[in-house]
Parts: sequence; C-alpha cells; structure tokens
Amino acid sequence: MSHYYIGADIGGTTVKLAIIEENGTITKKWEIPTNTDNQGEAIPSDIAASISNTLKEEAIDTSMVAGIGAGAPGFVDTTTGYIHEAVNIGWKDFDFGNLLKELTGMTVWVDNDANLAALGENWLGAGEGCTELIAVTLGTGVGGGIIANGQILNGANGTAAELGHVTVVPDGGAPCNCGKTGCLETVSSATGIVRKAKEAAEKYPESKLNAYLNDATLTSKDVFEAAKDGDKAASGVIAEITDVLGMAIANMAIAINPEKIVIGGGVSKAGELLLEPLEKAYRKYALPRTAEASSFGIAELGNDAGVIGGAFLVKKNN
Ligand SMILES: [Zn+2]
Repeated sequence: MSHYYIGADIGGTTVKLAIIEENGTITKKWEIPTNTDNQGEAIPSDIAASISNTLKEEAIDTSMVAGIGAGAPGFVDTTTGYIHEAVNIGWKDFDFGNLLKELTGMTVWVDNDANLAALGENWLGAGEGCTELIAVTLGTGVGGGIIANGQILNGANGTAAELGHVTVVPDGGAPCNCGKTGCLETVSSATGIVRKAKEAAEKYPESKLNAYLNDATLTSKDVFEAAKDGDKAASGVIAEITDVLGMAIANMAIAINPEKIVIGGGVSKAGELLLEPLEKAYRKYALPRTAEASSFGIAELGNDAGVIGGAFLVKKNN
C-alpha cells in the first residue's frame, strides 16, 4: 500500500517539490533552482537527486511513494510525458516523463502547469469537488485549465484550455509569445495590463500611472492601486482588461457550462478589484442560463496549487 504522492511544479526559475499524503496534507515542501543551461538537460537528474535526498531525510522508503505528478509550462503529451516544447525551460522534443521515470524508478505522470493548478484547486481549493470547472491563471501569461465531466481536458495534442491564446483582437493586436497576435495573454496578463497602462499613461499626462513610471517600473499591482484611488486612466485599463477576459471566459463557458470559475496567479491578488468587474463582464457576455449556473472565486492554494495538482494526478491514476 502506498501512502505518499510527490508533486513537482517546474517553472522557469524554480522547481517546486512536495511530498503529499493521500488526504492532501503536505508532509514536506521545498524548492530547487531550475537549471536552464544546455536546454534544461540537467533538470530531470536535479529533480531525481533532490527527491531521493529528501525521502532519505524524511525516512520515507520509495516503496511508500505511489508516484510523481509533474507539471511544466508548455505543450505536453500526457500519455507519455513527452514535452513538445516548454519555452521558458528550454525543452524542445524532450522525453521528460521517461527520463524522470528511469532516474527515480517511480511511476511518473506529466501535465502542463496550468492544468495541474486546475487539478489542485479542484481537489482541495476554490474549485473543490466541481465536476465542471474553468481555472484561469493570470501571471506573466494567461494559463487555463478545464475540468469537464470531472476530467481535466487535454485535447488532441495537448492544447485544450490554452485560454491565453484565444484571439481577442482580430487582425492585429500585440504579438504573443506563441507566434500569433491579439491573444488574450497580450491583454489580460500582468504583462498585458502593464502594456495597456503605459499606453494610457501617455494619453493621460495627469494620471498617477506616470508617477509610477517615473519612480520605478510599473507593475500590474500599481495599476490596480491607482484604479482603487480613482485614477481614471488606471480604471479604464482595468475596465478594458476585465471586459476582454470576461468575454473570453463567457465564450469558453458555453463549451462546458461551468459551475465555478477560479481565478489564480499573481494578478488575482487584486481580489475584488479584479473579480467584481470581471464577473460583471462575464454575466454581460454569457448566455444567461450559463451564467446562472456559475460562480467566481479566487484560487486558494497559491503557490502550492501545482504540487497539490501533481499529487492529485498520481492519486487519480492509482
Ligand atoms: Zn498566443
């Protein structure tokens, strides 16, 4: 009988790791730096060594571990753990799942990081127990994860729920990392908010946004602060980015008729300043009956969502 799951959330700067019990209790969590040298080739062995050391320290025998659930930002083949591309990490056509399996001797499941966050929130967070859930991560980019009929959606080649790349500006818009233009990510991510705020600051010389720009770097948090203080230019930016995001979520909602929409990532720290206009926009664009069924919430697991989702990936495959 197994008693532990291991979650690994691989990001561009750190790999978050955790040993998690069957009921979701975190026994131990820690981080190691992501070594992106040589297209990130050392990452699997770094993770394997760190897991092995930590299990020894915690006096947990590997036979007590049911497996590893790992997440990476990119296009993942979830049946094989093969990574087609993970730009921030440097992986391209990288057989990550099999490598980690060979190095650890454990069973390994892999999914993309936004899907793991959705699974984590679905197991123990703001989307707990939802059979139909849309989870949106607003950070440097926009990530999405969709649970339908109680299952995470992966799609034909791993791009299901890539909400950040829904086109919201037809025939134009800012260039996106994916190679397209006008993606949701170019508007409603932290990066998009700052870009819009810089444009607004130029148009409104009296706006507080200019003070932030002169002082230091302007962050999405500053834009929410300025909007809270009644700054018109900042309020305009928040109104615009929540309107676009609300429309994109409403359009997505018609596909799965969600009972809950969970918003996470750094931008979600704005709380009600974000949620209130977002929900209003969602209700404006969604089919009324679809909107009636759904409620909004801020993600609850913070930085642990990925490792908890990784553990859940192991749990559901056991
Ligand atoms: Zn894109």
